[in-house]
Amino acid sequence: MVIDPKRIREKMVREQIEGRGIKDQEVITAMLSVPRHLFVDEALQSQAYADHPLPIGYGQTISQPYIVALMSSLLDVKPGMKVLEIGTGSGYQAAVLAEMGADVFSVERVKPLYQRARKLFSQLGYHYIKTKLDDGTMGWPQKSPFDRILVTAGGPDVPTPLVDQLSDPGILIIPVGDSKRSQKLIKITKNDGSVEREDMGSVAFVDLVGKFGW
Ligand code: SAH
Repeated sequence: MVIDPKRIREKMVREQIEGRGIKDQEVITAMLSVPRHLFVDEALQSQAYADHPLPIGYGQTISQPYIVALMSSLLDVKPGMKVLEIGTGSGYQAAVLAEMGADVFSVERVKPLYQRARKLFSQLGYHYIKTKLDDGTMGWPQKSPFDRILVTAGGPDVPTPLVDQLSDPGILIIPVGDSKRSQKLIKITKNDGSVEREDMGSVAFVDLVGKFGW
């Protein structure tokens, strides 16, 4: 069991986040606030702040804390921005973005995960996170455009609906790769009508499925 989650959380941020060079104060503050242990099964709570992903059921995982910090930092979120997340999963990443002041829209395709995350958001006071049960590779056209889009599952390529639903200027982060379980973290930047693509390093995510996924 987690004895003192606040102290363990501080240690996680100091060693795994700041210790690896993430300096983004908004990300650090958010990760110090979100009770990560409540986003995993009770039986796994003692490992909630460890330096690796954890299973959340249905073959899915909650990402390693460092990866959540890295992606949140690359997104360069400013308070009030509209952020679309694909792959709600446990809801942890969405809660971190909400703590950073984002207006979060999150899409999940596995119904029990969607339901569990919704319940948790309301229990923890994240009533303002909007959720949808759907194929997130199609985005959320009715709510578009989005200042930022974050995909937390790895697909064969960048789904075109997501690029279309990205604001100009806007940033989209997505793991992309042709072999499952190992991808490149891709950063798409839209600016003045042009779209730039950068490789931000290797990552390992669960599969993005759906029309524009695997
Ligand atoms: N952001 C999550 C990580 C979850 S793992 C967290 O913080 O816990 C990736 C999630 O993406 C899984 O829950 C999986 O079901 C979901 N997923 C995969 N393909 C999807 C799709 N096409 N649309 C929506 N969700 C998808």
